[in-house]
Amino acid sequence: MGILSVVIPAYNEELMISQVCKVVREVLVESHIPYELILVDDGSKDRTWEEIIKASEHDKQIRGIHFSRNFGKESAIVAGLSAARGDCMAVMDCDLQHPPEKLPEMFHLWEKGYEVIEGIKSTRGKEGVLHHALAGYFYRIMSRETHVDMRDASDFKLLDRRAVESILLLPERNMFFRATSFWVGYKTTQVSYEVKERSAGQSKWTFGSLFRYALTNIVSFTAAPLQIITILGSASFLFSLLLLIYSLVQYFTGHAVEGYTTILTVLLFIGSAVMVSLGLIGFYIARIYEEVKHRPRFIIAETAEGGRVRKQEQDS
Ligand code: UDP
Ligand code: MG
Repeated sequence: MGILSVVIPAYNEELMISQVCKVVREVLVESHIPYELILVDDGSKDRTWEEIIKASEHDKQIRGIHFSRNFGKESAIVAGLSAARGDCMAVMDCDLQHPPEKLPEMFHLWEKGYEVIEGIKSTRGKEGVLHHALAGYFYRIMSRETHVDMRDASDFKLLDRRAVESILLLPERNMFFRATSFWVGYKTTQVSYEVKERSAGQSKWTFGSLFRYALTNIVSFTAAPLQIITILGSASFLFSLLLLIYSLVQYFTGHAVEGYTTILTVLLFIGSAVMVSLGLIGFYIARIYEEVKHRPRFIIAETAEGGRVRKQEQDS
């Protein structure tokens, strides 16, 4: 029987740490699954890290990683997966929106030989109309790129060590974990679960941060938006052709040209198309710049094991 590593990213989750540890432990002990828990504190500003140290004191199976600042959920997941020692690894949210009761089912699927077990949302939980529409667009773009339906995908997954190693080998700094696990392939299956209400604390996302996150992930996963420029360009070219024909007809039929409005419209239209396109290209260049800098995905400040805290040495 293999060991299951459960990776839990946590950012300002002081209210949740002890609870999530307790629930996960209960579920796994009850189904006799050997486990370890890796809690990654993503540079929280509250007492999350103290809570994690405390938890690691009570349970030898719990280890903690503390970032030097907030690096984002994806980085926390990558750090947790790199530190995990199990034969298979699960990733779940700290707020119990991903039900731990599903872990045994996923684990048994892994034992049957599946290497990537995706948690699929059966309902999307509570969200506003605009949020729902934008999320729909986002996932449609991402699905086209990964060739799988990502609409109900989430970060709740269980992966074989081999799949995790493939993911960790990818050189890009900006990883979108949810899509990357599809991208690496392997023998995949799905488990559906219901998104629960957050049990304490609040969502770490604001509309703005989520929008930026979506844009970044689209840009780092697909070049499709660049094609929009070509489409816009072709459209405005067609439009100007029509206008040209129209003006020529006007000219030859002897009508006076008073096309000030037309010219202004065309100018504005083309001007804005060019600016939007430039902005889009700028977005890609920014991402390329980020990747080229080749900075580490995260900086670990401290680690905790068995209640002992160790300062992390930074390799040269
Ligand atoms: N999270 C993180 N770093 C961040 C933001 C969030 O590690 O910068 C963690 C957070 O602690 C939680 C998970 O990511 O375990 C999902 O966050 P949240 O519940 O706020 O997102 P939502 O469920 O609203 O999408
Ligand atoms: Mg949540």
